[in-house]
Amino acid sequence: MKTGNGDIELAGIVKSYDEGRTYAVNGINLKIPDGAYCCLLGPSGCGKSTILRMIAGHEDPTAGEIVIGGENVVGLAPVERRTAMMFQSYALFPHLSVRDNIAFALRVRGQSKAERYRKADEMIEKVRLTELADRLPGQLSGGQQQRVALARAAITEPRVLLLDEPLSALDEHLRIRMRSELRSMQQDLGITFIHVTHTQMEAIALADMVVVMDKGVIRQSGPAREIYSAPKDRYVAEFIGGQNVLSGKVGKVNGARATMLGASFSEIAIPLPSGRHLEAGQPLDIAIRRDDIELKPYAEKPMLAEDAASVEGTVSAIEYQGNYVKVMLDAAGEDEFVAFVPERKFFENNLTVGEKVLAVWQVTHTQVMA
Ligand code: ADP
Repeated sequence: MKTGNGDIELAGIVKSYDEGRTYAVNGINLKIPDGAYCCLLGPSGCGKSTILRMIAGHEDPTAGEIVIGGENVVGLAPVERRTAMMFQSYALFPHLSVRDNIAFALRVRGQSKAERYRKADEMIEKVRLTELADRLPGQLSGGQQQRVALARAAITEPRVLLLDEPLSALDEHLRIRMRSELRSMQQDLGITFIHVTHTQMEAIALADMVVVMDKGVIRQSGPAREIYSAPKDRYVAEFIGGQNVLSGKVGKVNGARATMLGASFSEIAIPLPSGRHLEAGQPLDIAIRRDDIELKPYAEKPMLAEDAASVEGTVSAIEYQGNYVKVMLDAAGEDEFVAFVPERKFFENNLTVGEKVLAVWQVTHTQVMA
C-alpha cells in the first residue's frame, strides 16, 4: 500500500509561546525522504512532540514552512494533510470491538458499512489480529492494543504516520518485541514514519534516520550508525552513550597525525580527519567508544604499538553485564570513563577496584569532534 509523496521538509520552523519569551522549537531545518523511518530523539522538553503536532496540523508554527509531498501544509486542517497520528495512550474506544475501533476512522470519512468492514478486515489480517477482531480493547495485551492503534491510524492510508512515544507504555520485554514489529509494519506499509522517543536504543534500533535534538534545535541528524559511531559533539556523544569524551587542546599538528593535551592527561595522539584544519592550542573534544578501549595492568609497564593512544586511570567500579564487563575508571579528569571489556578477556586479567591501569585504544578509532 505505497501511497508516495511522503517526503517532508521542515524549513525554518519556529514555535514560540508567550509572545516570544519561550521557544519550544527554534529554527528547525530537516528533510525526511519518502518511506523513511525517522526518529526524533532528545530529552523531555526539547521540542519533539511540538514538531509532531505541527506536522499533524494540531498546532501552527510561529514561523517556517512544513512541506509534505511538495505542498506547504501550514494552515491546512489535519484531515487534509494525509497524515495520521498514533498516541502513547493508544486512545482506543473501550466500548468498541477491535474491528469497530479500526473501522471508526472510515465512518468519520463517510464510507459505507460494507466498505469499512472490508478494509478493516484487510488491515486486521495485516496486523495479525484476526482471531481477536471481536474483542474489546480491555481484553487485549499492551502489545495487541498497540497493533490496533497502529491499524486504526494506517487504515486512512496516510502518507506519513506520526508516532508519539508509541512504546513507552509497554514493559521492557514487550517494548523490544514491538519495536521490531513497528519496523516491519513500516516496511509493509511503505510510508514515512516519524517516531518521537527519548530512548536512545529505541531510535538506534529502529530508524533509518535519527534526529538528535536539544532545547528546540537539531544537534545532529543522520543514519543510526553515523550518530552512534561518529557523534559531532560532546552533547550527542553523551546523550547517545557508549562513548568516552575527552576535552583538551590541540598540541602538535604533523601530517595526518596530531596530538591533544589535557589538564588531566599527558599528550595523546589523535587522527587528523581529512578536510579538517586544526590549529595548535585550539580547544577540542574527542570521543572513543567504550568497546574500543583495552585495559592493561599498569604494573606490567606495557609497551604500546605505534598506532595506539592511551590514558592512565584507576579502576573505580566493576559491573558484570553478562556478555561484557563494565569497568569504570577515574581517568582523564572526566566524571565518567568506561571500558566495556569482553567477558572472557576480563577474567583473563581479573582487574580489581583500586588497581592502576592503562586505557589503550587505536588512534584511528578516535572520533575528533567540535
Ligand atoms: P518534548 O516532546 O521533547 O518533551 P515538547 O515539544 O512537548 O517537548 O515541549 C517543548 C517545550 O515547549 C517545553 O519546554 C514545553 O514546556 C514548552 N511548551 C509546550 N507547549 C507549550 C505551551 N502551550 N505553552 C508554553 N510552553 C509550551
